Amino acid sequence: MADIQLYDATLRDGMGGGGMSLTADEKLRVVHALDELGVHMIEAGFPSSNPKEEQLFGLLADEHFDTAEIVAFGMTRRREVAAEADEGLRILAESFAPVCTLVGKSSPLHVEKVVRVSREENLRMISDSIAFLVRQGKRVLLDAEHFFDGFALDPGYALDCAGAAADAGAERVVLCDTNGGSLPPQIRVALAVVREALPDLALGIHTHDDSGCAVANTLVAVEGGVTQVQGTINGIGERTGNANLITIIADLQLKMGCELLAPERLARLTETAHFVDELLNRLPDPSQPYVGKHAFAHKAGLHAAGVSAASETFEHIDPAVVGNHADVLISELSGRATIVEKARQAGIASDEDFAQRVVEHVKELEHQGFQFEAADGSFELLMRKESGVYEPLFRLESWRVLVEKRADGKVETEATINIWIADQQYIRTAEGNGPVNALDRALRDAIGEIHPHLRDIELVNFKVRILDEAKGTGAVTRVLIDASDGQRMWGSIGVSENLIAASWDALVDSLEYGMQGGKSSSGSTIRSAGRA
Ligand SMILES: [Zn+2]
Repeated sequence: MADIQLYDATLRDGMGGGGMSLTADEKLRVVHALDELGVHMIEAGFPSSNPKEEQLFGLLADEHFDTAEIVAFGMTRRREVAAEADEGLRILAESFAPVCTLVGKSSPLHVEKVVRVSREENLRMISDSIAFLVRQGKRVLLDAEHFFDGFALDPGYALDCAGAAADAGAERVVLCDTNGGSLPPQIRVALAVVREALPDLALGIHTHDDSGCAVANTLVAVEGGVTQVQGTINGIGERTGNANLITIIADLQLKMGCELLAPERLARLTETAHFVDELLNRLPDPSQPYVGKHAFAHKAGLHAAGVSAASETFEHIDPAVVGNHADVLISELSGRATIVEKARQAGIASDEDFAQRVVEHVKELEHQGFQFEAADGSFELLMRKESGVYEPLFRLESWRVLVEKRADGKVETEATINIWIADQQYIRTAEGNGPVNALDRALRDAIGEIHPHLRDIELVNFKVRILDEAKGTGAVTRVLIDASDGQRMWGSIGVSENLIAASWDALVDSLEYGMQGGKSSSGSTIRSAGRA
């Protein structure tokens, strides 16, 4: 099987899904996670469609990546405008990104009914735009939009579009099932024709899941000779979503013999999938192939010892290969190794016994609703507490929050905290725009004098999720806070039946971790943040 390039579209196409939103800093964390996984190309979006994208490209320009190249995404030139004079193309040309992906029409229906240009002008729009960016030193990919629907209507024209891109110097043409309605046999037939007509053209595949076949269509395309696969993490995207890159990676590598990722990178698959869900404040799908919590869970009554003795009888792959685990027995083993490694990274001395205690503690907390994938700060504090090298910032006597709504519609919030630092008592009251903000201000007022680094710590994100899965105890609230001190970014978590109590716990972890990191010499940079 030829080398297959992995192309991630989470940050552009994936954001088209309902309720999907990430800040520039969060997107940067996703890019690093994908780079650590070993993805080859990452589509970051259009360089300056809005201030957020502008900020993201600014951040990306200063970063170094191991495997990933950053791709800027845009459109072919507008009709009847010279490529040099097209604003969008100029922005792409000026972007630092070495690779540009242009979306262009390849279906006569869209050319005539949507863009309303002649078929010839559409071909010129494709070739002029690509030639212009190639002259500017860019490597260019064409996303041939609606390719398979266009091919069904007029195979000759769809091929002309791909050929025009190739002639203009495109590195690759990506065949897109934009409406997501194709089935594997259609993909197979169209691809055979394309390969025959344009045997030297490097191809990619971009599918959507409207027929439930996005992954299957991608695999069929690889069989048919495509050498780049596009998708999004966990299949997020418009409507029913894009092809799920997580599933595709595992299928290609473990079932189709493609050498995509080194084993230690493939073992990050589960962690990466959950990390992106956590950042998006989405509950990871427990039934997701390969990486879901239940992907390797065995039916009750099946003896765990039997499974570990002959796991191939019940499991299609060894779950550890993708960083997942089957059940308690195996999870404890893989869990201990992970914890020893995390402790080493945090500079905490550990041994088997320590790792076992942390595993037990994490299991207990997960049962209560904790999830540490996006709460690396809280996880490191947990390890510190377990190892005995933990210093609390303060000792809590009590806190209280008052929220008052008045007749004029105004809501006032006030928090009072009562804490001890060494043998000094601090009682502070502060107002805020909400309970967490008021508690944060009161707490900073009390300890900011002693710990000036606290002023650099900013809470950048606050996410709340109601968990109804917790057994027997009714709904509990999980709060995730992302914080930054300008150099590093970390996550913290709190879980409680009470929203404000959960927020308080996450807030305290967030500040304590920030202070710990401020003192330790090994402080992780934004590059490695969020990896717990
Ligand atoms: Zn798409």
